[in-house]
Amino acid sequence: MPPIDPRPRLLITAGPTREPLDSVRFVSNRSSGRMGLALAAAGRVLGWPTTLLLGPITSAIPPDQDAIRFETTSDLSSLLHAHWPQHDLLIMAAAVCDHRPAIPQQGKIQREGPLTIELLATEDIVASIDSITRPEQVRIGFALEPRECMEDAARDKLRRKNLDAIIANPLETMDADTIDAMLIDASGSTDVPSMTKEAFAHWILEQAATRYSPGIVDTTPVQGLDADA
Ligand code: C5P
Repeated sequence: MPPIDPRPRLLITAGPTREPLDSVRFVSNRSSGRMGLALAAAGRVLGWPTTLLLGPITSAIPPDQDAIRFETTSDLSSLLHAHWPQHDLLIMAAAVCDHRPAIPQQGKIQREGPLTIELLATEDIVASIDSITRPEQVRIGFALEPRECMEDAARDKLRRKNLDAIIANPLETMDADTIDAMLIDASGSTDVPSMTKEAFAHWILEQAATRYSPGIVDTTPVQGLDADA
């Protein structure tokens, strides 16, 4: 049997999605993409095979960061379904739009008084990969929430989206250099002291590898359970 490669194949999603309203405007989320870029950089420092799916961000991308780009929630969904089977650990840091304009217009909507836009709910992408996820693959999500309801909301998302763990972080994380997070999984929660997003990226990859062992299938026979025992 070939030796098991202990380096998890890491898939990161980062940045916002954008949903067109017309050829000029869009609906989106405030997201710098910095946390996701830091996660991909940390994976590469560890020598883990890393794929970064990156949305439209305004800051420059470091020249050593290869990224596959997406624009809409539907683009990201297609990319995630195509790439997830070849990976062991997903960290879903993308700020996915929860709604999209029902009927995007061609050209430019003119200013002719009030405008009512119908928004439809987008697909919950991370929940949608449940059916193609193998037991040894690990999924970690983010939940950005107001601090006062952060933990309860994140626990609810952990269950609803069938994640292995979720990183709850308050609204102040947006556009900030630091993150003040809580890591929540089925066994409980860990408060993480405030640190730079780059330091947090290293910490979370270490936690993911040690707590959840993505991609590593333990084939060691359980002692005392052989037929002759
Ligand atoms: O936006 P929300 O707080 O629900 O995001 C929680 C997690 O779910 C994040 O990891 C986010 O990337 C993911 N998500 C998703 N599809 C959506 C909305 C969020 O995969 N439509």
